[in-house]
Amino acid sequence: MIAAGAILCLGAAGFLYTRREHISLRPSSILARLEGTNLYNPSEALFKRGNPRQKVVALTMDDGPHPKYLPTILSILAANHVHATFFEVGEMMAKSPNLVRQVLADGNEIGDHTMTHPRLIHLTPAQIKSEIMQCQQTFHAITGKQMNLFRPPGFREDPKILKEIKALGFITVDYTTAAHDFIVKGNFAKPNPIKIAASVMDRLKPGGIILLHDAPGTAEALPELLSEIKAKGYRVVMVSQLLAGLPHPITVATDAGPCTTPMSKIPAYAIADGAKIHH
Ligand SMILES: [Zn+2]
Repeated sequence: MIAAGAILCLGAAGFLYTRREHISLRPSSILARLEGTNLYNPSEALFKRGNPRQKVVALTMDDGPHPKYLPTILSILAANHVHATFFEVGEMMAKSPNLVRQVLADGNEIGDHTMTHPRLIHLTPAQIKSEIMQCQQTFHAITGKQMNLFRPPGFREDPKILKEIKALGFITVDYTTAAHDFIVKGNFAKPNPIKIAASVMDRLKPGGIILLHDAPGTAEALPELLSEIKAKGYRVVMVSQLLAGLPHPITVATDAGPCTTPMSKIPAYAIADGAKIHH
């Protein structure tokens, strides 16, 4: 009787604990947590979230560089003394190379988000490679550096695609918290900045990767969002720093910092506004 009561109590405590922490008791989930693959899966080089024991979060900004919004976003980040990881589109980088250099010069890092932002599941392996490497080549032409982090457009990928991305030398970066800050095609109503900040804060957890976009709603929501993140005692870091803080740390060379290629050595096609890069 006592044993049955103890089991019941333990069960109830376990249930409450898992409810609060959102931890699954499925055997596969327990094994993943023991191995740490719930955070980083080495077979796919997939980074899912940072160390839940550290009160840090990473800001990620996709789909830029956008000449209209990015300068504002960069100045807000600088004013708050924080850095972000930007997943940029090759075609957009080719149109605004000076912004790409500015992102790095401010101490932020940049990851590959393909050349033209297609859904990878609709492409052949050769097309996937071309999309990723054209973006890499564009970035290299502009900065003399190379990217190590990758994010698939729309998060449309599968284990086979993840392994192809890994073979190209990239770590794929997932997210834990989406801000829903992008403008849906055909809907020109700007997302509400208060709602953007609230939707992030509602789901923020240690080791979180926040998904934002280089978009007008983000620029407006950012000051409030950063002050709320700070008020909750979180430190904002970049994805490479989250990786370095894992229980089994992953070291990637960050591309943050001054560009290594002098302006005179950058091919003309990468400088001209509106230029398309053809390979
Ligand atoms: Zn995107």
